[in-house]
Amino acid sequence: MPILAYHMVEPDFDLAITRVSPQQFSRQIDLALHRGFSFVTLDEYIHRPSPSSIALTFDDGYASIHQYAFPILQKHNIQATVFIIAGYVGQFDAWDVNFGSIRFRHLSWPQLEALHQAGWQIESHSLYHNDLTRIDRAHCLRELVLSKRIIEKRLRIRVRYISFPFGNSNKQVVQLCQQAGYEGGVVMSRGNDPVNQPFGRQRLGIYYFDNQRTFLHKILAKYEKSYKFMQRMLDVCSDGTVLVKHGIRAIKR
Ligand SMILES: [Zn+2]
Repeated sequence: MPILAYHMVEPDFDLAITRVSPQQFSRQIDLALHRGFSFVTLDEYIHRPSPSSIALTFDDGYASIHQYAFPILQKHNIQATVFIIAGYVGQFDAWDVNFGSIRFRHLSWPQLEALHQAGWQIESHSLYHNDLTRIDRAHCLRELVLSKRIIEKRLRIRVRYISFPFGNSNKQVVQLCQQAGYEGGVVMSRGNDPVNQPFGRQRLGIYYFDNQRTFLHKILAKYEKSYKFMQRMLDVCSDGTVLVKHGIRAIKR
């Protein structure tokens, strides 16, 4: 069964396709439960695999997860995994490309503590959401080590997994992850072969344009090749985002 990747659960209008509305999210959860699936954390998915369990993950750690997704999941006693940007806890998403003027806030430490107390798994999505394949070795190691250390210290937990920003990793990044003490990592459609090796666990993203039908296809692994192909295209788009970001930085300099 798949590992699903959500980003924002947010009712406000935004250009981001990575957003789903709370209603959309709630209906997707209901649909999967109705079909006999259960949702689990990444840890449970890996260590107690079951043909009916779906791993539920959130990237970027937006505050909307606490506001909208958490109550919906609490109703069904579902725990999920959230990958947070350790350097942006409680702050606005200044790291993201923004074509409008809307900024979104990240989860605060008290909100993360509440999720943790409810059984959620909190893991790393790096320190500042840099593409780890585009920065030098020392910088990359710093992102990996510090994000892990900050989360561990603030929440008194062990951080074992990383979600690579923009889904990008390579051999060197994986080697540095191991050096920093991570046990595994998740990507989107890309990853090193074989696909399920510990640092290349693939996920399917759920987006604004997913309706009940495409959501069902994704969890049933129907038309799997087509959806993986679509995911790959979206990943290429997110590379575009990285390039835009680098471009903006270059202009600012
Ligand atoms: Zn991200």
